[in-house]
Amino acid sequence: MTVAIEHGFPLSRLTTIGTGGPARAFARPATEKELADALRYAAGEGLEAVVVGLGSNLLAADEGVDALVLKLEGELAEVEIEGETLRAGGGATNAVCLHRARAAGLGGFEFACAIPGTAGGGVKMNAGAYGRDWQQILTRALVVTADGAGWLDAGELGLSYRHSGLAPGQVVARVEYRLQASSPEAIKATVAELIAQRKATQPTNKRTFGSVFKNPPGELGAGRMLEECGLKGHRSGGAMISPKHANFIENADGATSEDCLALMVEARRRARERFGVTLEREVVLVGGMELPPLET
Ligand SMILES: Cc1cc2nc3c(=O)[nH]c(=O)nc-3n(C[C@H](O)[C@H](O)[C@H](O)COP(=O)(O)OP(=O)(O)OC[C@H]3O[C@@H](n4cnc5c(N)ncnc54)[C@H](O)[C@@H]3O)c2cc1C
Repeated sequence: MTVAIEHGFPLSRLTTIGTGGPARAFARPATEKELADALRYAAGEGLEAVVVGLGSNLLAADEGVDALVLKLEGELAEVEIEGETLRAGGGATNAVCLHRARAAGLGGFEFACAIPGTAGGGVKMNAGAYGRDWQQILTRALVVTADGAGWLDAGELGLSYRHSGLAPGQVVARVEYRLQASSPEAIKATVAELIAQRKATQPTNKRTFGSVFKNPPGELGAGRMLEECGLKGHRSGGAMISPKHANFIENADGATSEDCLALMVEARRRARERFGVTLEREVVLVGGMELPPLET
């Protein structure tokens, strides 16, 4: 075994909302070999493997997660540029990728400036903003499982709105993005404009996990729907539906994951009652947490 396994690592330290109990096992693989070893260890122990990027779209059970939790580091978080291709480890942050792309005069990744995640999390969620998403920049991804590794083209990853076909245990170890020549000044100006838009409309200075629900089909987004249900500022324990944007939950005062889940249950119930719409969650639940089905 090439990688150290820790036990009981608190997931609250790995999620942007700041909640989540201990991971049964935790490792920080820094090379493909360490990652493969960690995945084989999980398979041998009968444990599910769960990767955490920046934990920016994750809600983990307060009781803990009976899995091997992985955080990709070292070589698996590096970024390099060749021509118009940006190669990143699955654990590379969007901030670093954007910084490197800008310095190299490569545009096309500006949309990710306000998405506080990693390359692997971007693929898994097909993250996006301002009408663009991972599908439009990703050429291929190296996917590692307990049984081996292989490159998948973007078309083989089943990407659609905030969704990929990646199964649990399939880890994105590396990605390649195709970007286009631009100027660092133009990129900087676009990013400044997008960040300003964000700050005006979303709680960017609070602990959240990004969008709670996906936008349903139709004109009315999830945030506007929940706002019309009167949910802004609604609280459960230490969690609060953001007074700034109703599709965000803030950790207002020592929230637990259960507090957040209780708000999600209430929000879904009210959206169904008022609009007849069943909101689908965007946030990933780990550790056996589930949204109960709505009554029909
Ligand atoms: C303030 C704020 C703003 C946000 N704005 C946006 C936005 O505009 N658009 C948007 O799409 N999202 C947004 N998000 C949500 C989140 O940032 C994205 O979904 C992001 O892509 C998650 O990346 P992550 O690396 O943090 O993944 P995590 O949240 O850690 O994990 C999310 C999922 O991806 C999986 N995963 C992570 N890494 C890998 C990997 N290497 N291989 C396989 N699976 C992996 C996890 O297991 C989990 O299933 C926002 C979040 C916050 C807190």
